[in-house]
Amino acid sequence: MHLPTRKEMEELPEFTAAHPIKVLVSACLAGEMCGVDGTSNGEYPWIKKLIALPNVRAFRFCPEHFSFGTPRDLPDIHGGNGFDVLDGRARVLSDKGVDMTDGMIAAAKEMLRVVKENSVDIAVLMDMSAACGSQVISDGFRLVPDRKYQKGPGVSAALLLRNGIRVVSQRDFRTLEYLYNKLDHGHIVSHHAVDHHETDWYRSYFGAH
Ligand code: SF4
Repeated sequence: MHLPTRKEMEELPEFTAAHPIKVLVSACLAGEMCGVDGTSNGEYPWIKKLIALPNVRAFRFCPEHFSFGTPRDLPDIHGGNGFDVLDGRARVLSDKGVDMTDGMIAAAKEMLRVVKENSVDIAVLMDMSAACGSQVISDGFRLVPDRKYQKGPGVSAALLLRNGIRVVSQRDFRTLEYLYNKLDHGHIVSHHAVDHHETDWYRSYFGAH
C-alpha cells in the first residue's frame, strides 16, 4: 500500500504559515472547472478546507487540461494501469477510441516537474481518474453498462509514486484525518474514517485481500 502511515505523517516537520507544507492537489478537487465536461467533478469541501489552512501552500494542477484542454474527450486506460502505460505495456484511449497515450505521459511529466520544482511534500489527487487516480481506476472504457475497475494508479499518479512522492486520494479519509491532525493539532482524528481500500465497496469488488 502506497499511503503514508500515521507515523510517517507525524514524523514530518512542523509546518507553519512561514514554512507551510506544500501540497499538490488535483485542480478539480480545489474547485477548478477542469473536468472533461467543464465541471469540477463534484464538490469536495474537506479538500478545500485542507488547502485553506494557514500552514498549507497548495499547487493546483490538472494534467489532462495541460495536454488536451477543457472540455475534452474522456480517457481510460486499456491493458493495465498507469505504471503499465509509462512502461509501454498499456494505452490510453478516449471514449471515441482516439489514442491519448502520448499526451497523458506528457501531462504526467509536467505534473512531476511542478512537484519537483516546488519541493512538494504530498499530493492529494482525485481517485478513479485515468491521470490522477491512485487507488482505483477504470479497466477499459468506463462509459459501458458493465464498467470494470482495477486496483492501481492513473498515469500521473503512477509517475509521482515511482518518484517517491506521497500520494493520497480524496477517498482516503483515514489518511486525510492524519494529515489534518498533523497540520491542525486541535483536529481530533476520527476513528471511523477509512481509506478507500478499506471500504465495503472496495472489499466486495476486489475481495478482502
Ligand atoms: S485530470 Fe485530474 S485534475 Fe484534471 S479533471 Fe481529471 S481528476 Fe481532475
